[in-house]
Amino acid sequence: MSSNGDRSERAALFSVRMHATGPGGQHISGAEGIFPGSVVDEAARYYTERAMSHSRGAPAKTSITVEALIQPPVALCSLRVRTLESSDTQETEHTIRTILERVGISLRAIDSAFGVLRAESAMRGAAMVCAREGKRLDPDRARGVRASLLGISSRARANLLRKLAPYSIATDRVLEALTLATKVAAAPGVVAELCVSDDPDYTTGYLATKALGYLRMPFIKPEGDLRGGRVIFLSEGADPSATVSWLEHTPVIMKRTGKVHGPVPIRKITVL
Ligand code: AMP
Repeated sequence: MSSNGDRSERAALFSVRMHATGPGGQHISGAEGIFPGSVVDEAARYYTERAMSHSRGAPAKTSITVEALIQPPVALCSLRVRTLESSDTQETEHTIRTILERVGISLRAIDSAFGVLRAESAMRGAAMVCAREGKRLDPDRARGVRASLLGISSRARANLLRKLAPYSIATDRVLEALTLATKVAAAPGVVAELCVSDDPDYTTGYLATKALGYLRMPFIKPEGDLRGGRVIFLSEGADPSATVSWLEHTPVIMKRTGKVHGPVPIRKITVL
């Protein structure tokens, strides 16, 4: 969807969101953006089509929400993008654990995160985990916390697509995940985010921190695995309600774009 607008700042802006569920009410897919009023109908059509052709199955119910923004979105610069050089799931998990430890996350919290990511039932949102104790901090553990009210300006989108193209990753999936990760990394109290898609045919996840940027993680799960999820690590003593307020209620738009690099070996990755 190409129309998240730059005309935006002066024109009224709308958050357009899609959520599709299966016959038992289980989560199938979700996506969203911020758009000027002139392209809201196009955005709604685009998200409906996406819901109807998802690899997790045909939805029994698809909801499209169009909501006028009552405050101007905060402008953000997208995180730097890189891809880990890895050849299998073991190597990827080892790297994730190494980096998380290096950014100060305890073994208990890392194990707790992998427990969430490997749970059988998909959550709609992300789990918030204390980086020291490993305890869950999100108020509704079945749902998790949803990062919402996020988008990308059409100029930033075009710039990013141009930067991503040489690495064959100029896709909506990457743009949307990068937008979400950029919002999460800017949230109060957040140390890191780890994401595994719940799409069975998408096995590249990511690990993101402000300093590390957005590090794509190939082979984060085996092909065909329906499990997935997101974990947001919060520093000890952070106020989870401030994080939730930023993630769920503060609109943000990516207007500037960070660097994009190709594959990197773990020895070249510094985290601080
Ligand atoms: P996806 O990358 O869309 O396959 O999503 C992977 C997992 O991330 C989902 O199973 C949810 O647990 C979580 N998730 C998806 N969208 C959001 C969101 N907007 N905010 C927080 N967590 C999300």
